[in-house]
Amino acid sequence: MAHKFVDNYREKGARKKLVDKLKERGIQDKSVLDAIGKVPRHYFFDETFWPQAYKDIAFPIGDGQTISQPYTVAYQSELLHIKKGDKVLEIGTGSGYQTCILLELGATVYTIERQENLYNRTKLVLPHIGYHANFYCGDGSKGISEQAPYDKIIVTAGAPFVPEILLKQLKIGGILVIPVGDEKSQKMLTVLRVSETDFEKFELDTFRFVPLVGDQAW
Ligand code: SAH
Repeated sequence: MAHKFVDNYREKGARKKLVDKLKERGIQDKSVLDAIGKVPRHYFFDETFWPQAYKDIAFPIGDGQTISQPYTVAYQSELLHIKKGDKVLEIGTGSGYQTCILLELGATVYTIERQENLYNRTKLVLPHIGYHANFYCGDGSKGISEQAPYDKIIVTAGAPFVPEILLKQLKIGGILVIPVGDEKSQKMLTVLRVSETDFEKFELDTFRFVPLVGDQAW
């Protein structure tokens, strides 16, 4: 983790280029592009690796985990259609980069991480760089029922199926975005809760996430 939190012209410039690249790759939502343009992604990297921070690639962040590729973060964020004040559950806090993007979009964020060391680190770093979320440590495959219902739920790890229990924690009109598949590749799914009992499912592009490990997962 970087110990210096400075946002120099070099990083600002690189971030602008990243936004242009994401536009080229098909991200259209202006609020999402603006959020990517604001969050200093290099703060999540050791200073040695700052030149890597604004490449459109995933990167190891220690503890065997990765910070998601910017394109993937933008893609999932766009699908959530976040409105200011939306209550969002994020499953898989990891580095907290996606969390910061959700906060920039105006969401109130509840985020859960199963790895205690990552949870501890991110819970400390985010407020330090000006981002305030509600952090939980535990198995997010079951959601966080005591804070439900949510306007939006985002799963940032690859699941073998859509956990029923997450659907129950969605408000009517709410959206779940979750990659579902095997260990090698997952299809991005969005599930819209149409009514108490009805859900509409859409299958989108293919991605590769680290596995969602838990009671309602691998
Ligand atoms: N959103 C992160 C991506 C992290 S990678 C970012 O922007 O960097 C996915 C994370 O999900 C990993 O940190 C992993 O430990 C976590 N994870 C896996 N299964 C989980 C579960 N059941 N509950 C909570 N977190 C889980």
